[in-house]
Amino acid sequence: MTLPLIRKPPAARGAEPQLRDYAAARAAFSWADARRELAGLPGGGVNIAYEALDRHVIAGRGIARALRWIGKDDTVRDFSYADLAAATSRFANVLASLGVKRGERVFSLLGRQPALYAAALGTLKAGCVFSPLFSAFGPEPVLARLTIGAGSVLVTTAVLYARKVAPIRDQLKSLKHVILVGGADDRSPTDARDFDRALAAVPPEFAPVVTAPEDMALLHFTSGTTGKPKGAIHVRDAVLAHRVTGRYALDLRPGDVFWCTADPGWVTGMSYGIIAPLVLGATLLVDEAEFDAERWYRLLARERVTVWYTAPTAIRMLMKIGVDPVAHADLTRLRFMASVGEPLNAEAVVWSAQTFGRPFHDNWWQTETGGIMIANFAALDVKPGSVGVPLPGIEAGIVARRNGRIEPIAAPMAMGELALRPGWPSMFRGYLGETERYERCSADGWYLTGDLAMRDGDGYYWFVGRADEVIKSAGHLIGPFEVESALMEHRAVAEVGVIGKPDPTAGETVKAFVALKAGFTPSDALRKDLLGHARVKLGLALAPREIDFRENLPKTRSGKIMRRLLKARELGLPEGDLSTLESDE
Ligand code: AMP
Repeated sequence: MTLPLIRKPPAARGAEPQLRDYAAARAAFSWADARRELAGLPGGGVNIAYEALDRHVIAGRGIARALRWIGKDDTVRDFSYADLAAATSRFANVLASLGVKRGERVFSLLGRQPALYAAALGTLKAGCVFSPLFSAFGPEPVLARLTIGAGSVLVTTAVLYARKVAPIRDQLKSLKHVILVGGADDRSPTDARDFDRALAAVPPEFAPVVTAPEDMALLHFTSGTTGKPKGAIHVRDAVLAHRVTGRYALDLRPGDVFWCTADPGWVTGMSYGIIAPLVLGATLLVDEAEFDAERWYRLLARERVTVWYTAPTAIRMLMKIGVDPVAHADLTRLRFMASVGEPLNAEAVVWSAQTFGRPFHDNWWQTETGGIMIANFAALDVKPGSVGVPLPGIEAGIVARRNGRIEPIAAPMAMGELALRPGWPSMFRGYLGETERYERCSADGWYLTGDLAMRDGDGYYWFVGRADEVIKSAGHLIGPFEVESALMEHRAVAEVGVIGKPDPTAGETVKAFVALKAGFTPSDALRKDLLGHARVKLGLALAPREIDFRENLPKTRSGKIMRRLLKARELGLPEGDLSTLESDE
């Protein structure tokens, strides 16, 4: 079925999109010119916290609201740019007082609470590297990431510490300092610091460290099909891409009330939930609570949200609820709506255009790219189901890998791998400690994204699927190997294969196939035990929803479990020659 174009709406006077003429902007764009928009620091230094906060304060905009935080119980707390500049300076002073040096890694394991924002930007202000962990991770994912990243500081809460860190504390060799938001309890380490008290004890002034553009700033973990999680290295200069893409693809401007619903534990919640909107002088709206359709519509209206950036799983849940938002709430302030992270069905785009009077603008990027690469722009017609066109400054292509060479595919709507020409500032600089993994995804001057896509005759890109076996569940990328490893630790498990099972709301859910050791027999009780084991080890974010028992799992000639075959069988698809193929990773 081809759905009709959604014509760009006529812009209200004074509200023309910041990128008015896509073709002209693309032709004229250069990263060197765009760089002039950064304030910068002496000697060519770049500090993301300075760009996001101090710069505005120095320019006399300190009283503007930077963050409106809404608690689960509807408590509202506002922070001006000056407040956040002071809080981040305090956090930087705390790090300095602990002897934490420039370049050391500060991790957070926190829900969406104000301290997270102060810690993230305070870490960057101090010249350290920030790495956010999703608070729904269990001990194993936390251990893997803190170990790979050699985290020396962890900011968390007493409850999260007791559940997720205490069981693995003795294995965290590099961890020197634990800072607890909301104070300690009797399960906390005796040398833990209290976040509020530590901040109150130091001055609210700190000169941002003059970090170089290529210094590491952020470490974002992502997953592959095999092996441990990968720590994607992002540098200080990424802020330039955050600024440019926030302005062009999300149309952000000073005074906007911007709601990015992504959790800062993932890259979207950092690049666009914190950095881009602050750099551009907008107000972040942060909701501590989890998804709730009525609440979301209420917040959109009450907080007069102007730009909303969310994800397909949430959009599908809103569609399912069937509430007419416009009948319930005044959404006339809402100027621009965007979506990212997983395929946005064409039907959802059409639904949004009918329901809100404006469509969701799907855009595409990934942890490695650090920022939006391909987008539907306010100034262009939207083709429902397409992820849009490349941003100014971004060269994309559809390519085939043949005998180690990369061949661009020019024919319209021919499927190939989505590739990008490196050179934009938020491109990752490698996976921490794994040079060969980085090399595997670059060839002939292209970065290979691992996604399959097509490009039509107008230059619009269409996402087809992943080239590998990683799972996308509710927008979260999950490595099957990480889930398999945790299940293998159960005493009854001999072999395990994990796949993404299609799900109408979450896109995919995690399903595990288990072969038992001799002496164990399949039963509901054992299944429950395995599910419980996985939840404790992995946390709700990664644990499988379903487990099936199998006598044997299909394997390649070299003995690797064939997830593709498991998936084909699960879906009742033809197995074709899958059963004779060697796994590609
Ligand atoms: P992550 O690194 O966790 O942000 O996941 C990135 C992956 O999510 C991409 O490589 C795609 O497979 C998928 N993805 C991101 N945005 C979209 C989109 N707009 N449509 C379809 N898939 C997407």
